[in-house]
Amino acid sequence: MNLIPIITHKKLGMELTRQEIQDFVRAAAHGEAPDYQLAALLMAIRLKGMTPEETTELTLAMRDSGDICDLSAIPGIKVDKHSTGGVGDTTTLVLAPLVAACGAPVAKMSGRGLGHTGGTLDKLESIPGLSVEETEEKFIRQVKECGVAVIGQTGTLAPADKALYALRDVTATVDSLPLIASSIMSKKLASGADAIVLDVKTGSGAIMQTLDGSIELARAMAEIGRLAGKPVVAIITGMEQPLGTHVGNALEVKDAIAVLSGRTKGDLLEVSLLLGSHMLVLAGKTETPEQGRAMLEEALSSGRGLEKLKQMIRAQGGDPRVCDDVTLLPQAPVKRVVKAKATGYLAGMDTTALGLAAQAMGAGRMLKTDIIDPAVGFVMPARLGDRLEPETELCILYAADEESADRAEAAIRAALTIAAEPAKRPPLVYALVTADEVRRFA
Ligand code: URA
Repeated sequence: MNLIPIITHKKLGMELTRQEIQDFVRAAAHGEAPDYQLAALLMAIRLKGMTPEETTELTLAMRDSGDICDLSAIPGIKVDKHSTGGVGDTTTLVLAPLVAACGAPVAKMSGRGLGHTGGTLDKLESIPGLSVEETEEKFIRQVKECGVAVIGQTGTLAPADKALYALRDVTATVDSLPLIASSIMSKKLASGADAIVLDVKTGSGAIMQTLDGSIELARAMAEIGRLAGKPVVAIITGMEQPLGTHVGNALEVKDAIAVLSGRTKGDLLEVSLLLGSHMLVLAGKTETPEQGRAMLEEALSSGRGLEKLKQMIRAQGGDPRVCDDVTLLPQAPVKRVVKAKATGYLAGMDTTALGLAAQAMGAGRMLKTDIIDPAVGFVMPARLGDRLEPETELCILYAADEESADRAEAAIRAALTIAAEPAKRPPLVYALVTADEVRRFA
C-alpha cells in the first residue's frame, strides 16, 4: 500500500477522497503500511483537520474494518457509554454495575490509557486475576447471566482503531476532533449498542480543553450517530480537576469501590449518576433522568451496585474480595504525603500536567510497549476553591521509588495555582448535546 500520496494530500490541507480514507484505514487494520507512515498521516490530520464528510467516511471505514458485534441475543435495549477521557475519571467502574443493578444490560467495550488520560482496561487489570480479553461469545453470555461485562475490543472489532489508538497515544496526535470522533464512534457503532451516552470532557485535563471545542466534538459524534441510526446523548462535564480524588489504576479501582460502598460522595459519584440516569432513559427503564437517578441511588444505598461489581469481577476471573479488602489490590512501595506549605486558596490545576505526572510515575505508557505499574499514582483530597493551610494535605503519592516520588511531587506542585483570594469552584456539568439540540447549563 502506497500511503505517500495520501499523506501528501493531507499535508497540503486537501480533502481526502472516500477511496483514500478507505486505503488508509485498510493499511492500519491489516498492517499494510509501516507505523511511521501511519503516524505521519495522523499528524497531518491533526494539523490540517478534516471536513465533516471526511470524518464520517473515516468513522464508517473504521467501523467496517472488522466485525460488527451482534448483541441481539441479549434481551433489552443495550446502551453503551464512552468518555472522551480524563484524569481520575473512573465513571465506568461506578455506573456500569449501578445501571446493571437497575435492570439495563451493560455490554461495554472499553479502552486503555490514551496520552495523559487513564483507561478503564488498565484499571480493571489491576484487580488480581481479572481478564479483559474475552471472546464475543463469552462476553454475550456474561451479560446475559450477570447483566454487565466490561472488556477490551475483541481483536476483530474496529481493528483500524486499535492500531491507530495505540499510535496516537505515543505520537502527540490524540487531541484531534476528527480522530477522536471517528475513534469513539467507530467502536461504538461496531460494538452493537442500540444507543450511546457520551461523556465529553472539557477543561484543563480534557483532550478538548475549550467548551466550544467540546461542544463541537459532541455535535460531530451525535451527528454521526444520527446518520447511523443510533440515538446519542452527550453530556459535557468539567475536567478542570481530576474527577475523583484518586489518580492511577489500582487507586481508581479503590475510589470506585469506596463510591459504590457509599463511603465517598462528590464529583465522581455525581457524574456517574448523571450519565447512568441517561443510560436508563435510553434503555427504556424509566421516563426521565430524574427518575433514573432515583433508581441508581437506590441501587447504591441498598448495596446492589457493589454486589454487581463483585459479580462482574468474579465472572471475569478476578478476585471479588478486593471490594471488601482493598489492600488486596497492588500496593506501591513508597508512600509520601505532600503538604501545601502556603496559606491560600486552591485556584487552578493544570489537570493535563497532573495526568502526565501519573503517566511518568508508571500509571500510563510513554511507548507502545511500556508495561503499566498498576500500584502507582496519587490521591488528591484538595479540590478547587478549598482553603489551604501549610499543613493541609495536597496529595498522597504512591510511587515505585523515592526518585519517582520526587519528580511527581515537583510536577504536581507546579501544576497547582494557589491564590491569596478566595477562588471559584468550577461547574461540573456544562451542556447536553444531541443531534437536535445543544442545551447549555453553565
Ligand atoms: N476515547 C477513544 O476511544 N478515542 C479517542 O480518540 C479518545 C477517547
